[in-house]
Amino acid sequence: MQLLIQKFGGTSVQTKENRLHVINQIKRALQMDYKLVVVVSALGRNPDPYATDTLLKMVDYPSSNNSKRELDMLMSCGETIASVVLANELRQHEITATALTGAQAGLITNEDYNEAKIKKVKPDRIKHELKTYDVVVVAGFQGRTESGDITTLGRGGSDTTAAAFGASLEADCIEIFTDVNGIMTADPRVVDTARRIDTVTYTEICNLAYQGAKVIHPRAVEIAMQAKVPLRIRSTYSDDEGTLITSSRVKEIGIDIPDRLVTGIAHMDKISQLTVNVDETDLRAQAKIFQTMADANISVDFINISPNNVIYTVPNDVTDQAVVLLQKQRFSVKVIKNCAKVSAVGAGMTGIPGVAAKITNALVKNDVQILQSSDSHTTIWVLIDERHLKTAVNALHEVFELNKETNKEKMH
Ligand code: ADP
Ligand code: MG
Repeated sequence: MQLLIQKFGGTSVQTKENRLHVINQIKRALQMDYKLVVVVSALGRNPDPYATDTLLKMVDYPSSNNSKRELDMLMSCGETIASVVLANELRQHEITATALTGAQAGLITNEDYNEAKIKKVKPDRIKHELKTYDVVVVAGFQGRTESGDITTLGRGGSDTTAAAFGASLEADCIEIFTDVNGIMTADPRVVDTARRIDTVTYTEICNLAYQGAKVIHPRAVEIAMQAKVPLRIRSTYSDDEGTLITSSRVKEIGIDIPDRLVTGIAHMDKISQLTVNVDETDLRAQAKIFQTMADANISVDFINISPNNVIYTVPNDVTDQAVVLLQKQRFSVKVIKNCAKVSAVGAGMTGIPGVAAKITNALVKNDVQILQSSDSHTTIWVLIDERHLKTAVNALHEVFELNKETNKEKMH
């Protein structure tokens, strides 16, 4: 049996008219003799009535009265509704279809409510339904604990659902349908000249996704990579092939994916930089800072440690909490709110001289001050004031010539 996983995001299933495009994509795959597992997100975005954020407003989220376990019961309704609506419309189009919740479909998670991690997938029920139906529609973003409580997987969770079923059912491909034509060299909402990337490795996309390119969730990429199932990111509204994510193209078309110096530019905003002064002679101070953050479950990033200073970033919405906690420990803290992290991500950056110089020159030329920077063998990050975000992303996109055809796919 040929099997495809297709995932449709919130905007793709928002209105009946949008869903006609979804149904067309499903029909096209059925004509090619595939059976389908279709994973759906909740219908639309806030203020649509069944969008995740709209549901959360019904319990005044965030509020001290909220129970994390109950929030998952509430949020999961959005995807459950979407799965039933789509299955029903597929039957109206004479396609045999049935809907399952994540729990019914066999997605088992840990008990980390609101951010649950998948522990295992039991695909028997889906396999059974596929004998009767051409399409099994599964509610994305949700699962259940071993003891039967409903859980959700956090933002981008439907991508992860699609990847998990793709891996466990050994699908031929996982197709992520969205409102853009594939993965671009930068967020097309920020960079007008961003180009679509045709073929790319799992690792490159994982790095881009971790740095904020929200077009696909990084965990989904990791799951697909481990199971060696190819992923395709494409538009609900066109027949365009989109972006193929695989480990190498040798298998598909006889050519390997060339190493690119920089694959794309990603960004993440709404973060704050904290600079904590420490007494050089107090060796425990540095560790105490991170222990304090960890105890409060505050995630830290972009860490630079020197004998006198510990510098790191936290999300804007927990900044005040972090500062209070540090002050309680008698640390003096300097805060810069509303920063953005811009990253140049590649696979071929290792050991190539001049990349850092290129980045700093491009930013300085555009009057963008670098507040902090760091690098790994695949990525260079800079922290800047959020007001310069668009300028900075565009400057880096241009300096690495990502808008040019020549950079696109240099064949060997
Ligand atoms: P969905 O609801 O379908 O999951 P998302 O909003 O999560 O859709 O992801 C699609 C969006 O990701 C696009 O509209 C685009 O603005 C954004 N995006 C960010 N970085 C990139 C990138 N490098 N390539 C394509 N889209 C990107
Ligand atoms: Mg998404």
